[in-house]
Amino acid sequence: MKPLLALTPDELRAAFAAADVPAFRAAQVARWLYAQRVRDFGAMRNLPAPLRDRLAGEWSTRSLLREAVHDAADGTRKLVLGTVDGARIEAVLIPEERRRTLCVSSQVGCSLDCSFCATGRMGLGRNLHADEIVDQALHAAELLAEEGRALTHVVFMGMGEPLLNLRNVVQAIRVLTHPEAFALAPRRITVSTAGVAPKIAELGRALPVRLALSLHAARDELRDVLVPLNRRFPIAELLEACAAFPTPRRERLSFEYTLIAGVNDSLEDARALAALAAKARAKVNLIPLNEHPGTRYRRPGEARMEAFLAALAGLGVTATLRRARGDDIFAACGQLGARADARAAPPSPAHDFR
Ligand code: SAH
Repeated sequence: MKPLLALTPDELRAAFAAADVPAFRAAQVARWLYAQRVRDFGAMRNLPAPLRDRLAGEWSTRSLLREAVHDAADGTRKLVLGTVDGARIEAVLIPEERRRTLCVSSQVGCSLDCSFCATGRMGLGRNLHADEIVDQALHAAELLAEEGRALTHVVFMGMGEPLLNLRNVVQAIRVLTHPEAFALAPRRITVSTAGVAPKIAELGRALPVRLALSLHAARDELRDVLVPLNRRFPIAELLEACAAFPTPRRERLSFEYTLIAGVNDSLEDARALAALAAKARAKVNLIPLNEHPGTRYRRPGEARMEAFLAALAGLGVTATLRRARGDDIFAACGQLGARADARAAPPSPAHDFR
């Protein structure tokens, strides 16, 4: 069976044409799938019955199975989705006043092993296929439709490093932005990277999406420890790649900076970060560390985080302190892949792996 969600509606037209199916049938199928969220060919009433049977025998419209949906107190919903080969991935739906953002995974696990991230501890399973990325959005759209809402933004900030799976990520974004599919404007899609410098340019050439860089440290010695990929692509090289990324004038690059107590949260760190942000014309998203059973790092106190934020602002940097979303269901940044039932584990010192 061929995965239909891997194709843009234009590519589906071409595939249908090659199989002597009239081109307008592709538009009809796309409408059922993306506008009505009907996956079952048998229910696509305006297709002739023989065609429905034929398509059902050749094409699959479901690449992931919904295994569970966990609801956090703040409205965040974590979707646990199973792949055909038995892997499990997660996507997180974050409702805000005027947006419904989906945080998608690009890989099963991750190869990068950032020292504070739960996903890195799993190692890399495999890259997700384009249709598996698109299906995360379709599952989210199905949930949202129950409340009469639609998806407005997609961020590649779930499990995995999107730039190490660039081909599938780009193809998925083509479907997400296609007017007959999800029709999301490319600027509503953010690709976040731990810093695969050579692939940043490639992404920039492919699509006008937004770029976020997971910086977390403003000096190489520290970044080498937090984000081991830094040993291959150090900060200066990353900033060069970001400077060449085609960000429109009115928009900014984003730096993600996870605040970790006693590690990267001093005022000196803030000054070094501000210097880099000014140079790169970047805004800074501060993320309070989400603690999880696999890390000995701790979140700084509220006052310390506010002081860090104020220091950046005082130096003229646009910065926000992101409120953790969904941490009670292990859906927050860096918690994907940490077992949801880990909550039941006894508190520290069992939590502490030192
Ligand atoms: N691999 C990509 C996409 C993942 S995005 C990247 O690194 O950008 C997930 C974001 O959450 C990254 O900025 C990551 O560094 C951050 N993160 C990871 N673990 C975290 C944790 N425990 N607390 C807060 N943020 C974390």
